[in-house]
Amino acid sequence: MNAAGPWVANVISDVVGLKTNDRIRLVQGSHIVVNRLYDHDRCYIFQNPDGRIFFAIPYEDDFTLVGTTDRDYDAAPENVAASSEEIDYLVQAVSSYLARM
Ligand SMILES: Cc1cc2nc3c(=O)[nH]c(=O)nc-3n(C[C@H](O)[C@H](O)[C@H](O)COP(=O)(O)OP(=O)(O)OC[C@H]3O[C@@H](n4cnc5c(N)ncnc54)[C@H](O)[C@@H]3O)c2cc1C
Repeated sequence: MNAAGPWVANVISDVVGLKTNDRIRLVQGSHIVVNRLYDHDRCYIFQNPDGRIFFAIPYEDDFTLVGTTDRDYDAAPENVAASSEEIDYLVQAVSSYLARM
C-alpha cells in the first residue's frame, strides 16, 4: 500500500524504485481564512461565473474559510502555497456574493 498522499509518485520512483509510465496529476485547491464574513454558523456553497463551485464555512470563532481554487500543480508538494492569483480569485468570488460586515 502506498499512502504517501501527494508524494505518492516520489515513493513509487525514489523509494520503491519502480519504473512506470503511469502519471499522477496533482491538483492544488487553496483556501483562504478571512475575518468572519457573516453572523451565523451555517455554510454557503456558491457558483462562480466560470462554473466552479466554491464555499464559505465558519472557521473557529472569528473567521470564515473560503475555498477552493482548482489548478494543476507540478512542483514539490512540500512547497505548495496559495498564490496571489488564487487569493485574488477567492476574494473576488466571495465578495461578489457577500458584503463586508
Ligand atoms: C487545507 C486542506 C483542506 C482539505 N480539505 C479537504 C476536504 O474538504 N475534503 C477532502 O476530501 N480532502 C481535503 N483535503 C485533502 C486531504 O487532506 C488529502 O486528500 C488527504 O489528507 C490525503 O490523505 P493521504 O493519507 O492519502 O495523504 P497525506 O495525508 O498527505 O499523508 C501522506 C503521508 O505520507 C508521508 N510520506 C511522504 N513521503 C514519505 C516517505 N518517503 N516515507 C514515509 N512517509 C512519507 C507524509 O509525511 C504524510 O504523512 C484538504 C487538504 C488541505 C491541505
